[in-house]
Amino acid sequence: MYVTQFAIASWEGQTGWETRRKQERKGNDKKEEDERGRNGHYVRPGELKGDREDEDEIDEDELAPLNPGLGEEKNARVGRLDWCDCRHCARMTNEKECWCCHEDEATWVRVMEDEGRGGISSSYSCVVQHPFFTSVCLNPYAIQAIHSRDIHLFGSTDHLPLHEKYRETSYRAFLDYYHGQLEDEVRSHHLPSCAASTIQGVFQEHAFLVRVPGYCPL
Ligand SMILES: [Zn+2]
Ligand SMILES: [Zn+2]
Repeated sequence: MYVTQFAIASWEGQTGWETRRKQERKGNDKKEEDERGRNGHYVRPGELKGDREDEDEIDEDELAPLNPGLGEEKNARVGRLDWCDCRHCARMTNEKECWCCHEDEATWVRVMEDEGRGGISSSYSCVVQHPFFTSVCLNPYAIQAIHSRDIHLFGSTDHLPLHEKYRETSYRAFLDYYHGQLEDEVRSHHLPSCAASTIQGVFQEHAFLVRVPGYCPL
């Protein structure tokens, strides 16, 4: 439980700045949009004055990645966060890593199934809040147990540094549980940004920086 609380608190601390930046940016965008509206530019055909409230909820910046300009297709999401709806994703360096858990249909189907089975009536805004993620994917003791199983299934991981062993095993546990896919080859971009970056934040190269109980050699 300590690990869970620590991990989430730690991660939210890291992303708080990003969230504030996003809110500030949205505020500026809205101001700019209002000015454009007053000048009569960019008014869509058929747009009524009474529709403005609904229109304001659609941030034009949010739509940008879906309509990239010439030459912007390759890295449309890198360095940005406006594609994230769960508020836990991080800026990633690779385009393949830039996807939100809200785009991960398999995961949310699994979460909904859990709620039905266990009689749980919680609503999560991000998969990193889900009990399996917090109690297994971020728990060094759980990862140690799964790693022992995986050695029998997929062979030794002695060639990997410690933090990579933990991360790889955690990614595999995530994909096994939420996607129903137990595979040898797992990569960070197979998981949504929020999940992958949270796992990376807990299982860091220099364990003494994090001081996660149980994070010890496998
Ligand atoms: Zn997200
Ligand atoms: Zn998320």
